[in-house]
Amino acid sequence: MKILFEIPQAILELFFPNLCLLCYEKRPLRNSLCCLACKLELPYSDQIDVVDNELEYRIFGRFKIQRAAALFRFRKGSKILKLIHQLKYKNRPHIGVELGKEYGRKILSSSNFPIPDLIIPIPLHYKKQYRRGYNQSFEFGKGIAEILDIPIEKNILIKETPSDSQTKMNRLERLENVMNSFKIKNNEKIIGKHVLLVDDIITTGATLEAAAQKLLKTKNLRLSLAIIGMAEL
Ligand SMILES: [Zn+2]
Repeated sequence: MKILFEIPQAILELFFPNLCLLCYEKRPLRNSLCCLACKLELPYSDQIDVVDNELEYRIFGRFKIQRAAALFRFRKGSKILKLIHQLKYKNRPHIGVELGKEYGRKILSSSNFPIPDLIIPIPLHYKKQYRRGYNQSFEFGKGIAEILDIPIEKNILIKETPSDSQTKMNRLERLENVMNSFKIKNNEKIIGKHVLLVDDIITTGATLEAAAQKLLKTKNLRLSLAIIGMAEL
């Protein structure tokens, strides 16, 4: 069934490359991936402009942040998952870039989100990145970096080993396992800096927490988080 559904979609895109990525019927809005009707159905969170938002509340007590915000807050079956699925598994890195630009514009128009010094994406292990062809979090960060006119650095936080299967571990074991899989290089570039760590989706937050803890070992580093979507708990 899945294949039957996807073939016509691929053909549609071949002949009509400029259609809304959600309905394939209408033209997308300017600076957008989808048409007005579909955009109105996307679960925007408003977190970027709101201090002490739900994501920050979830992180509170786990590690120190300046600001954290997800662009979307979704539940199972939400339309945004269709876009994120295309970004991660259908070779569409530009979806990440466009969502990043949207995020960046929201930071610019907010007086509650300080502009960071640089962006660091959650890395993929190089084998995984090779298979996918790109890192979706880097693409998202690239869009933000372009709008804010700040650098994005992919050679600072490195994923050295693929994470082991984590199903039988408790939260702390999981955190340690993921933390050990990250390495920091060129540490001098981030001393005293305000770093915006970017990721696609946050569910349990284990990966993000491990990366954050690792970065926060750097002297005088301040950390904020930009996430495409957070799952409703
Ligand atoms: Zn549409």
